[in-house]
Amino acid sequence: MTETRIIDGTRVADALRERIRVHVEAGKAAGHAPPGLAVVLVGADPASQVYVRSKHKRTQECGMASFEHILPAETGEDALLALINDLNRDPAVHGILVQLPLPRHIDSGRIIEAIDPAKDVDGFHPVNAGRLMTGGPALIPCTPLGCLYLLKSVHPRLDGLRAIVVGRSNIVGKPMAQLLLRESATVTMAHSRTRDLAGECRRADIIVAAAGQPELVRGDWIGEGATVIDVGINRLTPPDGGKSRLIGDVAFAEAMGVAGAITPVPGGVGPMTIAMLMRNTLEACCRQTGRSFPDDL
Ligand code: NAD
Repeated sequence: MTETRIIDGTRVADALRERIRVHVEAGKAAGHAPPGLAVVLVGADPASQVYVRSKHKRTQECGMASFEHILPAETGEDALLALINDLNRDPAVHGILVQLPLPRHIDSGRIIEAIDPAKDVDGFHPVNAGRLMTGGPALIPCTPLGCLYLLKSVHPRLDGLRAIVVGRSNIVGKPMAQLLLRESATVTMAHSRTRDLAGECRRADIIVAAAGQPELVRGDWIGEGATVIDVGINRLTPPDGGKSRLIGDVAFAEAMGVAGAITPVPGGVGPMTIAMLMRNTLEACCRQTGRSFPDDL
């Protein structure tokens, strides 16, 4: 039986945000304006409101400037595009994040493409996606970047390792696979049409589960000693309407004693996402102001 290490994403994220804060404060002490992050929320989706509030809090804790734009649900696409144009031109704003999902009457693709790629701290603009694929200076989507940080805490070098990414979304699965490829892992991308997903997973040294399916990856799908990164966030409410809880895409209890290391849900990948947003904002600011990006981030 393998002793399974639990990868503490909360601790890693706290330490990273503290290092970011120290760099930001040093920049301010040297007379530079703080990195600025603008977050745009359209409508009153409760989950999005929680995310936006915690992004605001974390941005301020890191010593950065936080600009919140909370717009009514009926805001038109043209008004939103006009705001993005203003933010693109504002020198105090180094990063722009439009909270998704947007209301249905707004074309998300058009909005994302309107963001200056240099300020696209979510890394969703096709220019950044293309640069990630071709090896250029991309801003990389926060969740897969956070997964890579956690993976590297277990495997400082990933070259030659067999990795499987379950899920092929533009925001998690595809950029995750590109990042692993960039690290010279041998990458399999799995999705809802994959045959024998269990067998594909069993062969892997690294499993990144990002399917949005509660406990999809079972204990007997995991090779002895493999590292498991669970991106899934699934809210389960008991039939009696009692308190809901979050579970991942991996059957955590079954994975214990089999996996070499695993991220818990909550407390694994989740906290890394906002820490990476802070990192990307600092990186965008450094690039826009011609300063070098600290190499301990
Ligand atoms: P998505 O719905 O856009 O994509 C899911 C992908 O999983 C699809 O490519 C689909 O083909 C694949 N899939 C679905 N069912 C499958 C199955 N049975 N077998 C194999 N593949 C299957 O989801 P997403 O936005 O990529 O998010 C995935 C999960 O990650 C969700 O639970 C989401 O809540 C979570 N998430 C977490 C964070 C975080 O900060 N931790 C950030 C983003 C997303």
